[in-house]
Amino acid sequence: MDCGVETAASWDVLLAGLAQHNLTPADIRRIIITHPHVDHSVQAAKLAALSGCQVWVADLGYEWLINPQKMFSLRAEYYRDHFLVEAGIPEEMAQVIQAYFAQVGTDTTPVPPESVQTFRVGDWLEMGGVKWQVLHMPGHASHQTCFYQPESRHFLSADMLLPKTPTPIVERPSPSHPRQPSLPIFMDSLDRCEALDMDWVYPGHGEPFQNHRQLIQKQRDRIHKRKGETLALVQQGHHTAYELMNVMYAHYPPAFRFAGLWMLIGYLDLLQAEGKVRVEIVDGVWQYYVNK
Ligand SMILES: [Zn+2]
Repeated sequence: MDCGVETAASWDVLLAGLAQHNLTPADIRRIIITHPHVDHSVQAAKLAALSGCQVWVADLGYEWLINPQKMFSLRAEYYRDHFLVEAGIPEEMAQVIQAYFAQVGTDTTPVPPESVQTFRVGDWLEMGGVKWQVLHMPGHASHQTCFYQPESRHFLSADMLLPKTPTPIVERPSPSHPRQPSLPIFMDSLDRCEALDMDWVYPGHGEPFQNHRQLIQKQRDRIHKRKGETLALVQQGHHTAYELMNVMYAHYPPAFRFAGLWMLIGYLDLLQAEGKVRVEIVDGVWQYYVNK
């Protein structure tokens, strides 16, 4: 399963974890990636070089694994030409964000294609002597997969079910398609998780937990509450995503407020889907208004 970010500390933790089972990196035969985000997948390149293991990923995430530099620069371009402009983010802040993506892209070691094997949504993978179904759980990432074992009712939840609601990252849409609303998509995935019987959830971050339906309800309640607060702010006359971000996340220093933008866009997407707000484009910038 996921093998972590490429740092010395992460490497040491991995070695210690393997040692507990009397294993070393050379013993690894297969790594299964839930979604190729840097904190889940980047150490795979080093492990594949050391052990000759195969790195398995859903076909949806293949490009990110073998060519992260290209994928991050495409995202940076989309943010520069579309998303950050539409959100009303000032030039200076936009440059910092693009530079960040470019940096992550260059820092991410690609996995050589010959080490990669892809699987598809709906496939069954054998792990630990039992079969797990591959489930597509988009929202945090469009290429995220989770794994469900129906007899033991174990769920490997990646960043889908976490103690804290994951960020609905705004992604570059495929050419000539509109932006996908990440938070509404995440909410649909939450509904699908709720419908599954689970005894134990093994998340991508933190300790295993039970009572997934309770966690889902809590996160849903909070999302609806924050959505309501966003609606009130639009009503008070804050019309661009940038203005809303600065009011909503005023307790953060300006440089850190961007982290809230993905969530905020998500609340606005939900409000729009419910017909409570509408968007007008003025000089290329989204302006949100409350529908009467
Ligand atoms: Zn992630």
